[in-house]
Amino acid sequence: MTRESLFVTVDLGGTQLRVAGYRPNGEIVHRYATLTHSEEGQEAVVQRLLDSIRQVTTKFPREEVAAISIGAPGPLDPWRGIVFMAPNLPGWKDVPLRDIVQETFQRPTYLGNDANLAALGEWRFGAGRGSTDMIYITVSTGIGGGIISGGKLLYGKRGFAGEVGHQTIEPHGPRCNCGNRGCLETIASGTAIGRDARALAKVGRAPYLFELAKGEINTIDAALVSRAAEKGDEISRQLLATAGSYLGIAITNLLHLFNPELIILGGSVTKAGDFLLHPLWQTLRERARPPYLENFDIVPPQLGDDVGLIGALALALDPPPQK
Ligand SMILES: [Zn+2]
Repeated sequence: MTRESLFVTVDLGGTQLRVAGYRPNGEIVHRYATLTHSEEGQEAVVQRLLDSIRQVTTKFPREEVAAISIGAPGPLDPWRGIVFMAPNLPGWKDVPLRDIVQETFQRPTYLGNDANLAALGEWRFGAGRGSTDMIYITVSTGIGGGIISGGKLLYGKRGFAGEVGHQTIEPHGPRCNCGNRGCLETIASGTAIGRDARALAKVGRAPYLFELAKGEINTIDAALVSRAAEKGDEISRQLLATAGSYLGIAITNLLHLFNPELIILGGSVTKAGDFLLHPLWQTLRERARPPYLENFDIVPPQLGDDVGLIGALALALDPPPQK
């Protein structure tokens, strides 16, 4: 590898398929994006992924391409490069994505879980630089994350570690996509906030949200709740405070388990700012043992929409140790 080596990275999402060319120092030299069209099924999406990679590789001399690295929704096997299934990619089951790409392009290829890669990206190139123990959490439609412990990404035995959104927080809470009940994701994600807000609006207990939505209760979502909170709506502030305190409970668990120095907290829901963060910190001060809060901070991510692409670069530079 030289400074001129090219790393082609892929962020395979349910909606967008993005590809970039990076130098090892994190400099982006080319990008390409298209829609995933996940509804067309697995074979069509894999073909589109190969075509999209080609859109980048053909812009550079072949010998410059050092590796290809893909972030995909999990659960997946980062060692064998197999996507077991992906809730937002219909029809995907046990797809040997790494081998398909590697055989097509004849370049070393890596595959990682998108949330874990975001953690790696923020750690190596973003808000987590210089730390050895940090946890990345993203709160949007769902809640995902990744754990850096002792200067290493925590993979677990089969590569499934770091599912911070699937901690049980409410034993009798709502059913989660994963089959469990009361996972953090079911009570503190954007989806959960929107669901609870609509339920209140339906019974006439959220008049301001009802008004903002022009009576279209089904259009009430977490972003609207955030807007209403800023305008002073007490019900919306309470909804965000509830989500914030649940996040506080989950982060207390993480503090006690992993003793991180940093939590990088991002995702669309965190745009609610202090309406979410204030109750979160209050919960930490009530529940976490004080030494865990010394030299500890919660900060926003720095890499924006490119976190998946840069995370895939970080994976190619620092692949999972073989076992
Ligand atoms: Zn769950």
